[in-house]
Amino acid sequence: MEAFRCSTCGQLVFFDNSVCLQCGSALGYLPAERSLLAFAPDGDGSWERVDGAPGRYRNCANLQIARCNWMLDVDDAEALCASCVLTSVRPSDDEHEAIAAFAAAEAAKRRLLFQVADLGLPIVDRRDDPDAGLTFEFLSSRGRSVTTGHESGVITLDLSESDDAHREFVRQQLGEPYRTVLGHLRHEIGHYYWPMLVERHADLLTEFRDLFGDERVSYEDAMSDHYASPANDWETTHVSQYATMHPWEDWAETFAHYLHIHGGLQTAASFGLTVGEPSLTAGAAAWSAPVPVEIGPTVAEWLALTFALNGMSRSIGEGDLYPFVLSPTVVRKLDLVHRAATAVASTR
Ligand SMILES: [Zn+2]
Ligand SMILES: [Zn+2]
Ligand SMILES: [Zn+2]
Repeated sequence: MEAFRCSTCGQLVFFDNSVCLQCGSALGYLPAERSLLAFAPDGDGSWERVDGAPGRYRNCANLQIARCNWMLDVDDAEALCASCVLTSVRPSDDEHEAIAAFAAAEAAKRRLLFQVADLGLPIVDRRDDPDAGLTFEFLSSRGRSVTTGHESGVITLDLSESDDAHREFVRQQLGEPYRTVLGHLRHEIGHYYWPMLVERHADLLTEFRDLFGDERVSYEDAMSDHYASPANDWETTHVSQYATMHPWEDWAETFAHYLHIHGGLQTAASFGLTVGEPSLTAGAAAWSAPVPVEIGPTVAEWLALTFALNGMSRSIGEGDLYPFVLSPTVVRKLDLVHRAATAVASTR
């Protein structure tokens, strides 16, 4: 994520802010420009940019209920912004607990959409492609069963995942080092991108099957095998235990991890954070790919940064911020994600 500055006073402001705490300016995010800007009322109930650039804007209709700070052109036919409009199912306004969880999920989703736009990956609204287009269903599992997942462009999120205590309980049950709403969304959108990034490209599909396995094996059998006897020797081959279930899950886990790395490095760069000796050397030496990979320098930079961040985290009495190991095989998988994403982005 980038760091932003208030266009009125220059203060550091964050992606989720709707007001500058220094000067009080209203802030809004313009998705088309991927920038957070200060706005002033224009007297007609809409907003104009403080930086003097032309245009009149209004708030997303979810400003209150989802704390959405994204803006629309005043003439836009939609009531909802480019992010909120992609949610087709959400709790009703009077389900107070679920609405709070919904707002948290929408905040994570805005971060996700910022990132995929930043990477140049396309999104097709399900209203334009009813068979494979993207839409989000945010459902409360209170009193019914909801499974977080992806099916042909429909991403379902169990809103109880926004509840910290519940999510921590599940995380411990599953022995996961890490479990967040943003992580779920990054995983599920990885499934959405698989056909676009891999399946349609014969050369990448062959490489995928060599590295991740053949995705044509039965998903149902793979799932029952996984829960009957979970793999415990996965760390040299997979980024997580869940990734061992099926090549599709391996792809989604690896894709999510690619987004973690990309997002983390972007944040570090936007704050001018660089890590020198000795962590950089340690990062470069921490893995040795038999064949050099395009993503190699990025991984070395990331590992150096995460060693420093883990050290920081331990120095304030917390555990590791980044409790992952990236084996050479996982780095090759990340490299395939990187090349597939870059290839699609470059054709746009
Ligand atoms: Zn300000
Ligand atoms: Zn919105
Ligand atoms: Zn999955």
